[in-house]
Amino acid sequence: MDTIAAIATGGSVSAIGIIRVSGENAVLVADKVFRPSGGVRLADAENRRLYYGEFIGADGALIDLCLCMVSRGPDSYTGEDSAEFHCHGSPVILSEALRTLFSFGVRMAQAGEFTKRAFLNGRMDLSQAEAVIDLIESESPAAASNAAYQLHGAVGAGLTPVYDALINVLAHFHAVIDYPDEDINEFEMQNYISALGTAKAQLGLMLSGHERSRVLRDGLPTAIIGRPNTGKSSLMNALLGYERAIVTDISGTTRDTIEEKILVGGVLLRLIDTAGLRRTDDTVEKLGVERTLAAMSLASLVLLVLDGSEPLMDEDFEALRLIPKDVPKIAVVNKSDLPQVLGSGPLEGLGLEFCHVSALRGDGLENLGERIKAFFPEFRVRQSGDIITSLRQAEAISRAICSIDLAIEAMSASVTPDAVLTDIEAALSSIGEVTGKTMREDVVSRIFERFCVGK
Ligand code: GDP
Repeated sequence: MDTIAAIATGGSVSAIGIIRVSGENAVLVADKVFRPSGGVRLADAENRRLYYGEFIGADGALIDLCLCMVSRGPDSYTGEDSAEFHCHGSPVILSEALRTLFSFGVRMAQAGEFTKRAFLNGRMDLSQAEAVIDLIESESPAAASNAAYQLHGAVGAGLTPVYDALINVLAHFHAVIDYPDEDINEFEMQNYISALGTAKAQLGLMLSGHERSRVLRDGLPTAIIGRPNTGKSSLMNALLGYERAIVTDISGTTRDTIEEKILVGGVLLRLIDTAGLRRTDDTVEKLGVERTLAAMSLASLVLLVLDGSEPLMDEDFEALRLIPKDVPKIAVVNKSDLPQVLGSGPLEGLGLEFCHVSALRGDGLENLGERIKAFFPEFRVRQSGDIITSLRQAEAISRAICSIDLAIEAMSASVTPDAVLTDIEAALSSIGEVTGKTMREDVVSRIFERFCVGK
């Protein structure tokens, strides 16, 4: 395999910038460009130990004083010989260092090529490789944790019992075909049918996680509603931590819906700030009301903002009535910094969860996050990695379920063993796609194109 290199830490100025090199000549080339202090040769360096020294350009000039680590295959990330240079994080230094490596026959790595090599060299299965990109791109602690467990092999581990059960049935049916005298008795058949049923249920469980994965990855679509001046824009600003919507004392000025992602107590919300719900003849304002209704119809969570310094008003009840019944909702009682007029009696009468915040001071926002977390289990700390985030994996799993269904049907109807075999083989092949055991080269390439260069 060619020796490849890339900057692994992005192109901006930072304290440290890392260049990765991997391939047949990685250590050889590293030895040419790096002089460890103390007279050690990099070719004789210990695996995975950092050496301090000089990075020397092709013309013999000093480029940087940095650290270098070599890891020889097969125990490296890619499974090949590799080297890492921890340089000063200047884009100029890094590109000069990279240029030097290129002058020794190393080529620029393509997007995701390091991880692709790790997969091709059996260092990880395909679900783990995909978890690498999920981990890098995760926007909430829960999403990161899910990806970390998947990188640890959670998806493959979940599929192993299914795989084993299918292989077990497959082996027996093969035996029946090879030795036609060996019959499958009714008792055994029932056992196989129930084993397949268990396998199907396990896959179904994995798939149910996928439905929740959008929330984990893209955030919870959240509509903030309430009558004018309760502090919706202020709440959004407080959540965002900076001025995003225009805050004003004049009612109904937040006309455009603005979407923004924000982490609240570890929960990723995709906020849809909406115009007030005030009934009005003003056409621009009317549009705002329509948008509010449209946003609510898309929302998985509605935050109804109330003003704690005032009693409940008709418009508050009206706003509440407009929220679709089955959508989780929380009354956010704002302005807790002011003397409170709105007591707990009327609030409890609303029949929904409530919490007190001050958008002005930023009080109570953590608590709001905790309330939201209670509604959405996908945001609780999980130690399983059981949420399938990849559409590709979810599709393969649902195909496996269909094939298992067909196999169960065939068995129940006492269809010939080879029909059962075909279905079970199809199920195994679909499962193999998740882990990459039975993946076509072009599909594999497409998966790694999503990665950044250097990963
Ligand atoms: P919206 O119409 O619901 O979007 O309300 P705004 O966010 O524009 O806020 C209306 C007014 O209430 C503004 O003058 C804000 O400064 C004020 N306000 C918002 N939140 C708080 C709060 O927590 N405490 C206090 N004292 N005033 C607030």
